[in-house]
Amino acid sequence: MGIDHSSALEALDVGRFKRLYVGGEWRDAADALEVIDPSNGCAIGHTPMGTASDVDDAVRAARSGFLAWRKLSTNKRRACILKLTRLIEQNEKELAKLESLNMGMPAAVARGFAIKACYRNLDYFASWMDKSYGDVVPLTGQFEGNLDYTRREPYGVIAVITPWNTPLLFVGSKVGPALAAGNAVVLKPSELASWTSLRFAELAAEAGFPPGVINVVTGDGRVGEALCEHPGVDKISFTGGIDTARHVMQAAAKNVTPIALELGGKSPNIIFDDANIGKATMGSALGCFALTGQACAAASRLFVQDKVYDEVLEQLKAFATGFPLGDPMDRGTIIGPLVSEKQLERVVGFIERGKKSGAEVVAGGERVDGELASGYFVRPTIFTGADKGAEMLREEIFGPVLNVQRFEKVDEVLEWANDSSFGLAAGLWTRDVGRAHRVAHALEAGVVWVNSWGSIPNSAPFGGYKQSGFGREGGTAALDEMSQVKNIYLDLKD
Ligand code: NAP
Repeated sequence: MGIDHSSALEALDVGRFKRLYVGGEWRDAADALEVIDPSNGCAIGHTPMGTASDVDDAVRAARSGFLAWRKLSTNKRRACILKLTRLIEQNEKELAKLESLNMGMPAAVARGFAIKACYRNLDYFASWMDKSYGDVVPLTGQFEGNLDYTRREPYGVIAVITPWNTPLLFVGSKVGPALAAGNAVVLKPSELASWTSLRFAELAAEAGFPPGVINVVTGDGRVGEALCEHPGVDKISFTGGIDTARHVMQAAAKNVTPIALELGGKSPNIIFDDANIGKATMGSALGCFALTGQACAAASRLFVQDKVYDEVLEQLKAFATGFPLGDPMDRGTIIGPLVSEKQLERVVGFIERGKKSGAEVVAGGERVDGELASGYFVRPTIFTGADKGAEMLREEIFGPVLNVQRFEKVDEVLEWANDSSFGLAAGLWTRDVGRAHRVAHALEAGVVWVNSWGSIPNSAPFGGYKQSGFGREGGTAALDEMSQVKNIYLDLKD
Protein backbone atom coordinates (compact mmCIF):
# COMPACT_ATOMS: atom_id res chain seq x y z
CA MET A 1 0.00 0.00 0.00
CA GLY A 2 1.61 3.27 -1.14
CA ILE A 3 0.96 6.81 0.06
CA ASP A 4 -2.74 7.69 -0.05
CA HIS A 5 -3.72 11.31 -0.74
CA SER A 6 -7.38 10.70 -1.61
CA SER A 7 -8.86 12.57 1.35
CA ALA A 8 -6.61 15.60 0.74
CA LEU A 9 -7.59 15.61 -2.94
CA GLU A 10 -11.28 15.55 -2.05
CA ALA A 11 -10.93 18.26 0.57
CA LEU A 12 -9.01 20.48 -1.87
CA ASP A 13 -11.59 19.98 -4.63
CA VAL A 14 -8.88 19.68 -7.27
CA GLY A 15 -11.44 18.63 -9.90
CA ARG A 16 -12.24 22.33 -10.35
CA PHE A 17 -8.90 23.04 -12.06
CA LYS A 18 -10.25 22.55 -15.58
CA ARG A 19 -10.39 26.05 -16.95
CA LEU A 20 -8.07 28.79 -18.13
CA TYR A 21 -8.19 32.34 -16.85
CA VAL A 22 -8.31 34.85 -19.71
CA GLY A 23 -9.48 38.45 -19.63
CA GLY A 24 -10.95 38.12 -16.14
CA GLU A 25 -13.09 35.11 -17.12
CA TRP A 26 -12.80 31.36 -16.74
CA ARG A 27 -13.00 29.47 -20.02
CA ASP A 28 -13.13 25.78 -20.82
CA ALA A 29 -10.02 24.27 -22.33
CA ALA A 30 -10.25 22.15 -25.47
CA ASP A 31 -8.24 19.39 -23.83
CA ALA A 32 -6.70 18.35 -20.52
CA LEU A 33 -3.46 16.74 -19.38
CA GLU A 34 -3.42 14.06 -16.71
CA VAL A 35 -1.78 15.01 -13.40
CA ILE A 36 0.23 12.32 -11.62
CA ASP A 37 0.97 12.40 -7.89
CA PRO A 38 4.75 11.83 -7.66
CA SER A 39 4.35 10.31 -4.18
CA ASN A 40 2.50 7.25 -5.49
CA GLY A 41 2.38 7.40 -9.31
CA CYS A 42 -1.46 7.70 -9.28
CA ALA A 43 -3.49 9.88 -11.63
CA ILE A 44 -5.04 12.53 -9.40
CA GLY A 45 -6.69 15.01 -11.74
CA HIS A 46 -6.13 17.22 -14.72
CA THR A 47 -4.52 20.40 -15.94
CA PRO A 48 -6.31 22.29 -18.68
CA MET A 49 -4.44 22.28 -21.99
CA GLY A 50 -4.57 25.67 -23.68
CA THR A 51 -4.21 26.23 -27.43
CA ALA A 52 -2.50 28.85 -29.59
CA SER A 53 -5.88 30.50 -29.90
CA ASP A 54 -6.19 30.74 -26.07
CA VAL A 55 -2.72 32.28 -26.00
CA ASP A 56 -3.73 34.78 -28.66
CA ASP A 57 -6.85 35.74 -26.67
CA ALA A 58 -4.83 35.98 -23.46
CA VAL A 59 -2.26 38.29 -25.03
CA ARG A 60 -5.01 40.52 -26.44
CA ALA A 61 -6.76 40.52 -23.07
CA ALA A 62 -3.47 41.42 -21.41
CA ARG A 63 -3.07 44.38 -23.77
CA SER A 64 -6.48 45.75 -22.70
CA GLY A 65 -5.66 44.85 -19.11
CA PHE A 66 -2.43 46.81 -19.37
CA LEU A 67 -4.26 49.90 -20.62
CA ALA A 68 -6.83 49.63 -17.81
CA TRP A 69 -4.09 49.01 -15.22
CA ARG A 70 -2.23 52.09 -16.42
CA LYS A 71 -5.31 54.26 -15.93
CA LEU A 72 -5.65 53.28 -12.26
CA SER A 73 -3.92 55.42 -9.66
CA THR A 74 -0.78 54.04 -8.04
CA ASN A 75 -2.65 53.69 -4.75
CA LYS A 76 -5.40 51.61 -6.35
CA ARG A 77 -2.92 49.39 -8.17
CA ARG A 78 -0.94 48.87 -5.00
CA ALA A 79 -4.14 48.07 -3.07
CA CYS A 80 -4.95 45.30 -5.60
CA ILE A 81 -1.51 43.72 -5.27
CA LEU A 82 -1.61 43.96 -1.48
CA LYS A 83 -5.07 42.40 -1.36
CA LEU A 84 -3.78 39.51 -3.45
CA THR A 85 -0.77 39.24 -1.13
CA ARG A 86 -3.04 38.87 1.90
CA LEU A 87 -5.25 36.33 0.13
CA ILE A 88 -2.23 34.16 -0.66
CA GLU A 89 -1.07 34.42 2.92
CA GLN A 90 -4.53 33.44 4.19
CA ASN A 91 -4.60 30.44 1.86
CA GLU A 92 -1.00 29.42 2.50
CA LYS A 93 -1.88 25.98 3.87
CA GLU A 94 -4.04 25.05 0.91
CA LEU A 95 -1.47 26.32 -1.59
CA ALA A 96 1.27 24.33 0.16
CA LYS A 97 -0.79 21.15 -0.15
CA LEU A 98 -1.45 21.77 -3.84
CA GLU A 99 2.29 22.24 -4.44
CA SER A 100 2.98 18.96 -2.57
CA LEU A 101 0.43 17.03 -4.60
CA ASN A 102 1.72 18.38 -7.91
CA MET A 103 5.46 18.19 -7.51
CA GLY A 104 6.16 16.43 -4.21
CA MET A 105 7.47 19.46 -2.32
CA PRO A 106 7.34 18.72 1.42
CA ALA A 107 4.39 20.73 2.75
CA ALA A 108 6.58 22.11 5.55
CA VAL A 109 9.05 23.46 2.94
CA ALA A 110 6.19 24.78 0.83
CA ARG A 111 4.68 26.63 3.79
CA GLY A 112 7.91 27.68 5.45
CA PHE A 113 9.62 28.81 2.28
CA ALA A 114 7.99 28.67 -1.16
CA ILE A 115 4.50 30.08 -0.56
CA LYS A 116 5.88 32.67 1.88
CA ALA A 117 8.41 33.73 -0.74
CA CYS A 118 5.52 34.34 -3.14
CA TYR A 119 3.47 36.65 -0.96
CA ARG A 120 6.49 38.36 0.59
CA ASN A 121 7.73 39.21 -2.90
CA LEU A 122 4.33 40.60 -3.89
CA ASP A 123 4.34 42.66 -0.72
CA TYR A 124 7.91 43.84 -1.29
CA PHE A 125 7.35 44.95 -4.89
CA ALA A 126 4.03 46.62 -4.07
CA SER A 127 5.86 48.71 -1.48
CA TRP A 128 8.23 50.07 -4.15
CA MET A 129 5.44 51.56 -6.23
CA ASP A 130 5.74 55.07 -4.79
CA LYS A 131 9.48 54.92 -4.10
CA SER A 132 11.14 54.54 -7.50
CA TYR A 133 12.68 57.65 -9.03
CA GLY A 134 14.07 58.43 -12.45
CA ASP A 135 17.28 60.45 -12.90
CA VAL A 136 17.93 64.06 -13.72
CA VAL A 137 20.79 63.81 -16.21
CA PRO A 138 23.69 66.29 -15.83
CA LEU A 139 24.24 68.30 -19.03
CA THR A 140 27.38 70.02 -20.31
CA GLY A 141 28.59 71.88 -23.39
CA GLN A 142 25.91 72.82 -25.92
CA PHE A 143 23.25 71.06 -23.79
CA GLU A 144 23.98 72.95 -20.58
CA GLY A 145 21.07 74.92 -19.16
CA ASN A 146 18.47 72.57 -20.58
CA LEU A 147 16.78 69.62 -18.90
CA ASP A 148 17.19 65.91 -19.38
CA TYR A 149 15.47 63.32 -17.23
CA THR A 150 14.57 59.64 -17.30
CA ARG A 151 11.44 57.70 -16.44
CA ARG A 152 10.98 53.98 -16.07
CA GLU A 153 7.96 52.80 -18.02
CA PRO A 154 6.29 49.38 -18.22
CA TYR A 155 6.80 47.19 -21.28
CA GLY A 156 3.11 46.33 -21.55
CA VAL A 157 2.48 42.58 -21.78
CA ILE A 158 4.91 40.23 -20.03
CA ALA A 159 4.94 36.51 -20.77
CA VAL A 160 5.88 34.71 -17.56
CA ILE A 161 6.98 31.09 -18.05
CA THR A 162 7.75 29.12 -14.91
CA PRO A 163 9.20 25.67 -14.13
CA TRP A 164 7.70 22.98 -11.94
CA ASN A 165 10.19 23.01 -9.08
CA THR A 166 8.85 25.98 -7.08
CA PRO A 167 5.95 27.26 -9.20
CA LEU A 168 4.32 29.76 -6.86
CA LEU A 169 7.64 31.15 -5.66
CA PHE A 170 8.35 32.22 -9.25
CA VAL A 171 4.90 33.74 -9.56
CA GLY A 172 5.92 36.05 -6.70
CA SER A 173 9.35 36.87 -8.06
CA LYS A 174 8.18 37.48 -11.64
CA VAL A 175 4.52 38.54 -11.58
CA GLY A 176 5.17 40.70 -8.47
CA PRO A 177 7.65 43.11 -10.11
CA ALA A 178 5.84 42.91 -13.46
CA LEU A 179 2.59 44.20 -11.93
CA ALA A 180 4.33 46.71 -9.66
CA ALA A 181 6.15 48.17 -12.67
CA GLY A 182 2.78 48.62 -14.40
CA ASN A 183 2.60 45.63 -16.77
CA ALA A 184 -0.06 43.01 -17.42
CA VAL A 185 0.95 39.34 -17.51
CA VAL A 186 0.18 36.06 -19.20
CA LEU A 187 1.41 33.28 -16.92
CA LYS A 188 2.25 29.83 -18.27
CA PRO A 189 3.27 27.38 -15.54
CA SER A 190 4.71 23.92 -16.18
CA GLU A 191 2.18 21.23 -17.09
CA LEU A 192 3.59 19.20 -14.18
CA ALA A 193 2.66 21.73 -11.52
CA SER A 194 -0.07 24.16 -12.57
CA TRP A 195 -2.60 24.00 -9.76
CA THR A 196 -1.13 26.74 -7.58
CA SER A 197 -1.01 29.08 -10.58
CA LEU A 198 -4.69 28.40 -11.28
CA ARG A 199 -5.46 28.98 -7.61
CA PHE A 200 -3.44 32.20 -7.89
CA ALA A 201 -5.78 33.26 -10.71
CA GLU A 202 -8.81 32.56 -8.49
CA LEU A 203 -7.32 34.74 -5.76
CA ALA A 204 -6.41 37.45 -8.30
CA ALA A 205 -10.07 37.50 -9.40
CA GLU A 206 -11.08 37.95 -5.75
CA ALA A 207 -8.51 40.73 -5.28
CA GLY A 208 -10.29 42.88 -7.89
CA PHE A 209 -7.70 43.38 -10.64
CA PRO A 210 -9.14 44.85 -13.83
CA PRO A 211 -9.89 42.08 -16.38
CA GLY A 212 -6.83 41.05 -18.38
CA VAL A 213 -4.15 42.28 -15.98
CA ILE A 214 -3.48 38.69 -14.88
CA ASN A 215 -4.10 35.79 -17.28
CA VAL A 216 -3.17 32.14 -16.77
CA VAL A 217 -2.95 29.74 -19.70
CA THR A 218 -1.82 26.27 -18.68
CA GLY A 219 -0.71 23.44 -20.93
CA ASP A 220 2.50 21.93 -22.23
CA GLY A 221 5.50 23.44 -24.01
CA ARG A 222 3.40 24.32 -27.08
CA VAL A 223 1.59 26.94 -25.02
CA GLY A 224 4.95 28.40 -23.97
CA GLU A 225 6.15 28.42 -27.54
CA ALA A 226 2.98 30.14 -28.83
CA LEU A 227 3.47 32.76 -26.13
CA CYS A 228 7.13 33.38 -26.97
CA GLU A 229 6.33 33.76 -30.69
CA HIS A 230 3.40 36.08 -30.15
CA PRO A 231 3.97 39.58 -31.57
CA GLY A 232 1.79 41.07 -28.82
CA VAL A 233 4.19 40.01 -26.07
CA ASP A 234 6.56 42.84 -25.08
CA LYS A 235 8.92 40.88 -22.86
CA ILE A 236 9.49 37.26 -21.85
CA SER A 237 10.54 36.27 -18.35
CA PHE A 238 11.52 32.61 -18.47
CA THR A 239 12.80 30.19 -15.83
CA GLY A 240 13.65 26.68 -16.87
CA GLY A 241 16.25 24.47 -18.49
CA ILE A 242 18.86 25.44 -21.01
CA ASP A 243 17.47 23.38 -23.91
CA THR A 244 14.07 25.01 -23.56
CA ALA A 245 15.79 28.40 -23.22
CA ARG A 246 17.31 27.91 -26.69
CA HIS A 247 13.80 27.42 -28.12
CA VAL A 248 12.61 30.48 -26.23
CA MET A 249 15.45 32.55 -27.68
CA GLN A 250 14.65 31.39 -31.21
CA ALA A 251 10.94 32.10 -30.83
CA ALA A 252 11.66 35.52 -29.29
CA ALA A 253 13.99 36.35 -32.18
CA LYS A 254 11.00 36.39 -34.57
CA ASN A 255 9.68 39.62 -33.08
CA VAL A 256 12.92 40.72 -31.42
CA THR A 257 11.17 40.33 -28.07
CA PRO A 258 13.45 41.04 -25.11
CA ILE A 259 13.93 38.18 -22.69
CA ALA A 260 15.26 37.44 -19.23
CA LEU A 261 16.45 33.88 -18.61
CA GLU A 262 16.90 32.16 -15.25
CA LEU A 263 18.43 28.79 -16.07
CA GLY A 264 20.18 25.89 -14.41
CA GLY A 265 23.35 25.49 -12.41
CA LYS A 266 26.06 23.15 -11.19
CA SER A 267 26.95 25.16 -8.16
CA PRO A 268 30.29 24.80 -6.37
CA ASN A 269 30.41 24.92 -2.58
CA ILE A 270 33.73 25.13 -0.70
CA ILE A 271 34.34 24.19 2.93
CA PHE A 272 37.66 25.56 4.24
CA ASP A 273 39.35 23.91 7.20
CA ASP A 274 38.73 26.88 9.54
CA ALA A 275 34.95 26.80 8.99
CA ASN A 276 32.32 26.08 11.62
CA ILE A 277 32.12 22.46 10.50
CA GLY A 278 28.73 21.61 12.01
CA LYS A 279 27.10 24.62 10.39
CA ALA A 280 28.92 24.14 7.08
CA THR A 281 28.01 20.48 6.83
CA MET A 282 24.37 20.94 7.64
CA GLY A 283 24.10 23.92 5.27
CA SER A 284 25.84 21.97 2.53
CA ALA A 285 23.66 18.88 2.98
CA LEU A 286 20.47 20.95 2.88
CA GLY A 287 21.92 23.05 0.05
CA CYS A 288 22.14 19.95 -2.10
CA PHE A 289 19.29 17.73 -0.87
CA ALA A 290 16.50 20.23 -0.10
CA LEU A 291 13.68 19.98 -2.65
CA THR A 292 15.17 16.55 -3.39
CA GLY A 293 17.95 18.33 -5.26
CA GLN A 294 15.42 19.89 -7.67
CA ALA A 295 16.71 23.41 -7.11
CA CYS A 296 18.45 25.56 -9.71
CA ALA A 297 21.00 26.60 -7.09
CA ALA A 298 21.54 23.11 -5.62
CA ALA A 299 24.99 22.88 -4.01
CA SER A 300 25.85 19.81 -6.06
CA ARG A 301 29.67 20.12 -6.23
CA LEU A 302 31.23 20.22 -2.78
CA PHE A 303 34.95 20.85 -2.27
CA VAL A 304 36.33 20.14 1.20
CA GLN A 305 39.79 21.14 2.41
CA ASP A 306 42.09 18.23 3.20
CA LYS A 307 42.32 18.64 6.98
CA VAL A 308 38.55 18.45 7.60
CA TYR A 309 37.59 16.19 4.68
CA ASP A 310 37.02 12.98 6.68
CA GLU A 311 35.06 14.72 9.44
CA VAL A 312 32.85 16.54 6.92
CA LEU A 313 32.21 13.38 4.90
CA GLU A 314 31.11 11.46 8.00
CA GLN A 315 28.68 14.21 8.97
CA LEU A 316 27.34 14.47 5.42
CA LYS A 317 26.65 10.74 5.34
CA ALA A 318 24.75 11.03 8.61
CA PHE A 319 22.59 13.82 7.16
CA ALA A 320 22.01 12.02 3.86
CA THR A 321 20.82 8.87 5.56
CA GLY A 322 19.05 10.64 8.43
CA PHE A 323 16.84 13.19 6.68
CA PRO A 324 13.21 12.04 7.04
CA LEU A 325 12.12 10.81 3.60
CA GLY A 326 8.54 10.02 2.68
CA ASP A 327 5.08 11.49 2.25
CA PRO A 328 5.54 15.19 1.42
CA MET A 329 2.22 15.93 3.11
CA ASP A 330 3.65 14.80 6.47
CA ARG A 331 4.92 17.70 8.54
CA GLY A 332 8.25 16.07 9.39
CA THR A 333 9.27 15.13 5.86
CA ILE A 334 12.39 16.78 4.47
CA ILE A 335 12.97 14.65 1.37
CA GLY A 336 9.96 14.12 -0.89
CA PRO A 337 9.78 12.37 -4.24
CA LEU A 338 11.16 13.58 -7.57
CA VAL A 339 8.57 15.30 -9.71
CA SER A 340 7.93 12.63 -12.36
CA GLU A 341 8.83 9.21 -13.65
CA LYS A 342 10.89 10.90 -16.38
CA GLN A 343 12.87 12.83 -13.77
CA LEU A 344 13.31 9.64 -11.74
CA GLU A 345 14.74 7.82 -14.76
CA ARG A 346 17.01 10.74 -15.51
CA VAL A 347 18.39 10.92 -11.96
CA VAL A 348 18.81 7.14 -11.61
CA GLY A 349 20.56 7.17 -15.02
CA PHE A 350 23.11 9.71 -13.73
CA ILE A 351 23.65 7.63 -10.59
CA GLU A 352 24.18 4.37 -12.52
CA ARG A 353 26.56 5.99 -15.00
CA GLY A 354 28.40 7.60 -12.07
CA LYS A 355 28.89 4.19 -10.47
CA LYS A 356 30.17 2.72 -13.76
CA SER A 357 32.58 5.63 -14.20
CA GLY A 358 34.47 4.48 -11.11
CA ALA A 359 33.24 7.10 -8.63
CA GLU A 360 32.36 5.68 -5.22
CA VAL A 361 28.87 5.87 -3.70
CA VAL A 362 29.24 6.55 0.03
CA ALA A 363 25.53 7.14 0.76
CA GLY A 364 22.28 6.36 -1.03
CA GLY A 365 22.69 5.54 -4.69
CA GLU A 366 19.33 3.93 -5.29
CA ARG A 367 15.62 4.32 -5.76
CA VAL A 368 13.57 3.74 -2.61
CA ASP A 369 11.60 0.49 -2.56
CA GLY A 370 9.14 -1.08 -0.10
CA GLU A 371 6.11 1.05 0.77
CA LEU A 372 7.40 3.98 -1.29
CA ALA A 373 8.15 1.94 -4.42
CA SER A 374 5.19 3.31 -6.38
CA GLY A 375 6.42 6.90 -5.86
CA TYR A 376 9.44 8.55 -7.46
CA PHE A 377 11.73 8.48 -4.41
CA VAL A 378 15.52 8.37 -4.61
CA ARG A 379 17.77 8.27 -1.56
CA PRO A 380 20.05 11.27 -1.02
CA THR A 381 23.23 10.13 -2.71
CA ILE A 382 26.86 11.07 -2.12
CA PHE A 383 29.64 10.31 -4.57
CA THR A 384 33.36 10.72 -3.97
CA GLY A 385 36.34 10.23 -6.24
CA ALA A 386 34.68 11.32 -9.51
CA ASP A 387 37.06 12.23 -12.34
CA LYS A 388 37.40 15.94 -12.96
CA GLY A 389 35.70 15.66 -16.36
CA ALA A 390 32.93 13.31 -15.17
CA GLU A 391 29.45 13.86 -16.58
CA MET A 392 27.94 14.26 -13.12
CA LEU A 393 30.33 17.11 -12.33
CA ARG A 394 29.42 18.95 -15.54
CA GLU A 395 25.71 18.41 -16.08
CA GLU A 396 22.81 19.57 -13.97
CA ILE A 397 21.24 16.41 -12.52
CA PHE A 398 18.34 18.13 -10.72
CA GLY A 399 18.16 15.35 -8.16
CA PRO A 400 19.58 14.53 -4.70
CA VAL A 401 23.11 13.76 -5.87
CA LEU A 402 26.14 15.33 -4.19
CA ASN A 403 29.72 15.04 -5.39
CA VAL A 404 32.42 15.59 -2.78
CA GLN A 405 36.02 16.37 -3.72
CA ARG A 406 39.09 16.98 -1.59
CA PHE A 407 41.35 19.99 -2.12
CA GLU A 408 44.43 21.53 -0.52
CA LYS A 409 45.01 25.03 -1.88
CA VAL A 410 42.77 28.00 -2.68
CA ASP A 411 44.02 28.43 -6.25
CA GLU A 412 43.38 24.80 -7.00
CA VAL A 413 39.82 24.85 -5.67
CA LEU A 414 38.99 28.09 -7.48
CA GLU A 415 40.11 26.57 -10.77
CA TRP A 416 37.86 23.54 -10.22
CA ALA A 417 34.94 25.57 -8.93
CA ASN A 418 34.98 27.87 -11.96
CA ASP A 419 35.46 25.02 -14.44
CA SER A 420 31.78 24.91 -15.42
CA SER A 421 29.62 26.25 -18.22
CA PHE A 422 27.13 27.31 -15.52
CA GLY A 423 27.48 30.25 -13.14
CA LEU A 424 24.32 30.58 -11.09
CA ALA A 425 25.41 30.26 -7.45
CA ALA A 426 28.45 29.39 -5.36
CA GLY A 427 29.24 29.17 -1.67
CA LEU A 428 32.09 29.05 0.79
CA TRP A 429 32.46 28.37 4.49
CA THR A 430 35.29 30.00 6.44
CA ARG A 431 35.95 32.16 9.51
CA ASP A 432 38.64 34.14 7.68
CA VAL A 433 36.93 37.36 6.58
CA GLY A 434 39.66 38.35 4.13
CA ARG A 435 39.59 34.98 2.44
CA ALA A 436 35.78 35.05 2.33
CA HIS A 437 35.83 38.25 0.26
CA ARG A 438 38.76 37.21 -1.95
CA VAL A 439 37.19 33.88 -2.84
CA ALA A 440 33.71 35.38 -3.26
CA HIS A 441 35.15 37.87 -5.77
CA ALA A 442 36.97 35.14 -7.69
CA LEU A 443 34.01 32.78 -8.01
CA GLU A 444 32.24 33.02 -11.38
CA ALA A 445 28.63 33.10 -10.23
CA GLY A 446 25.79 35.60 -10.01
CA VAL A 447 25.24 34.80 -6.33
CA VAL A 448 27.82 33.83 -3.68
CA TRP A 449 26.83 32.67 -0.20
CA VAL A 450 29.35 32.87 2.65
CA ASN A 451 28.65 30.63 5.67
CA SER A 452 25.16 30.09 4.29
CA TRP A 453 23.43 28.40 1.38
CA GLY A 454 20.25 29.36 -0.45
CA SER A 455 19.59 32.65 1.36
CA ILE A 456 17.68 34.77 -1.15
CA PRO A 457 16.40 37.99 0.45
CA ASN A 458 13.64 39.44 -1.72
CA SER A 459 15.55 42.74 -1.70
CA ALA A 460 18.69 41.19 -3.27
CA PRO A 461 19.33 40.56 -6.99
CA PHE A 462 19.37 36.93 -8.11
CA GLY A 463 20.49 35.55 -11.47
CA GLY A 464 23.22 33.78 -13.34
CA TYR A 465 26.56 34.21 -15.06
CA LYS A 466 27.54 32.20 -18.13
CA GLN A 467 24.95 29.66 -19.32
CA SER A 468 22.88 30.09 -16.17
CA GLY A 469 21.10 32.92 -17.94
CA PHE A 470 20.87 36.68 -17.93
CA GLY A 471 18.67 39.27 -16.29
CA ARG A 472 18.00 39.50 -12.58
CA GLU A 473 15.13 38.79 -10.23
CA GLY A 474 14.80 40.23 -6.75
CA GLY A 475 15.18 43.74 -5.40
CA THR A 476 15.18 46.83 -7.56
CA ALA A 477 16.96 44.82 -10.27
CA ALA A 478 13.67 42.98 -10.83
CA LEU A 479 11.77 46.24 -11.23
CA ASP A 480 14.41 47.39 -13.74
CA GLU A 481 13.99 44.07 -15.56
CA MET A 482 10.25 44.63 -15.86
CA SER A 483 10.48 48.23 -17.08
CA GLN A 484 12.27 50.20 -19.77
CA VAL A 485 14.01 53.55 -19.54
CA LYS A 486 12.68 56.55 -21.38
CA ASN A 487 14.90 59.60 -21.70
CA ILE A 488 13.23 63.00 -22.05
CA TYR A 489 15.17 66.04 -23.18
CA LEU A 490 13.74 69.55 -22.98
CA ASP A 491 15.26 72.58 -24.64
CA LEU A 492 14.40 75.32 -22.15
CA LYS A 493 15.56 78.24 -24.30
CA ASP A 494 12.88 80.43 -25.80
P1 NAP B 1 11.80 23.34 -18.65
O1 NAP B 1 11.48 21.98 -19.09
O2 NAP B 1 12.79 24.13 -19.40
O3 NAP B 1 10.39 24.11 -18.58
C1 NAP B 1 10.28 25.43 -18.13
C2 NAP B 1 8.98 26.01 -18.64
O4 NAP B 1 9.07 26.18 -20.06
C3 NAP B 1 7.77 25.10 -18.41
O5 NAP B 1 6.64 25.88 -18.14
C4 NAP B 1 7.64 24.42 -19.75
O6 NAP B 1 6.36 23.88 -19.98
C5 NAP B 1 7.95 25.57 -20.68
N1 NAP B 1 8.31 25.19 -22.04
C6 NAP B 1 8.58 23.96 -22.55
N2 NAP B 1 8.87 24.05 -23.88
C7 NAP B 1 8.77 25.36 -24.20
C8 NAP B 1 8.98 26.09 -25.41
N3 NAP B 1 9.34 25.50 -26.53
N4 NAP B 1 8.81 27.43 -25.38
C9 NAP B 1 8.46 28.06 -24.24
N5 NAP B 1 8.25 27.41 -23.06
C10 NAP B 1 8.41 26.08 -23.04
O7 NAP B 1 12.30 23.37 -17.16
P2 NAP B 1 11.72 22.55 -15.95
O8 NAP B 1 12.07 21.12 -16.17
O9 NAP B 1 10.30 22.93 -15.73
O10 NAP B 1 12.56 23.15 -14.73
C11 NAP B 1 13.82 22.72 -14.44
C12 NAP B 1 14.87 23.67 -14.97
O11 NAP B 1 14.61 24.99 -14.52
C13 NAP B 1 16.23 23.32 -14.45
O12 NAP B 1 17.19 23.40 -15.46
C14 NAP B 1 16.48 24.38 -13.39
O13 NAP B 1 17.82 24.62 -13.11
C15 NAP B 1 15.80 25.55 -13.98
N6 NAP B 1 15.49 26.51 -12.92
C16 NAP B 1 16.20 27.68 -12.86
C17 NAP B 1 15.97 28.59 -11.82
C18 NAP B 1 16.72 29.91 -11.70
O14 NAP B 1 16.26 30.78 -10.96
N7 NAP B 1 17.84 30.10 -12.35
C19 NAP B 1 15.02 28.28 -10.88
C20 NAP B 1 14.32 27.09 -10.96
C21 NAP B 1 14.56 26.21 -12.00
P3 NAP B 1 6.08 22.33 -19.68
O15 NAP B 1 6.73 22.00 -18.38
O16 NAP B 1 4.62 22.27 -19.62
O17 NAP B 1 6.69 21.56 -20.81
